[in-house]
Amino acid sequence: MRIRSMLILLLFAVAAGMLVRFGHVPSRASRNARKASWNEIIADLNACGRQKHLKAVQHVHFAEIAASENRPEAERLFRALAFSERLQEQNCAAAIRRLGGKYLPPRPGALFGGATDGNLERSIQAERRNYNRQHEAGIRRAMSRGNRYAARTLVWASAADLRTILLMEARSETQNRAFAVCPVCGNLYATEYLDRYCPFCLTDGEKFVRFE
Ligand SMILES: [Zn+2]
Repeated sequence: MRIRSMLILLLFAVAAGMLVRFGHVPSRASRNARKASWNEIIADLNACGRQKHLKAVQHVHFAEIAASENRPEAERLFRALAFSERLQEQNCAAAIRRLGGKYLPPRPGALFGGATDGNLERSIQAERRNYNRQHEAGIRRAMSRGNRYAARTLVWASAADLRTILLMEARSETQNRAFAVCPVCGNLYATEYLDRYCPFCLTDGEKFVRFE
């Protein structure tokens, strides 16, 4: 009788051990798969952050040139753009850290610097050229893997690129234009018409950073 009880106990222990073992194998595999898919998303966010960094540095340089040419409106626009790009870079870096990765800003490169009209034209051409192929794959990847936080960061980045194009296209419509930037997502405005709340992130319009 005692032997039978011990046998039952032994069988129970083996069964429990197998359950633990087979229970762990798929979860470890899924953890690894999850980490691998995060790595691709981290790479997308890094690419976004680096691109935003380079644009911010270039826009600061263009703003300095505009100031030296006494073109205050162009200077305001470039300063607003630089602030927005820098903020989006920080958002990308924060999203990368949240996924356990490390943001790697680019090394300083050569800056372009012509006269202000040429700089405006060059900026808008670059934005138009890049708009359709930037962010789209990254957003789709993040969405398909259920990472809405990373997707949102990239959607904000893409939306700000589009607002940059619209602002630059409308640059000659109004004299003495001023600009505002949402301090959370980097959304850009001309201040003639301002949303009361940022339509992307719901930040109160009173908190927008103004360039006047
Ligand atoms: Zn916002």
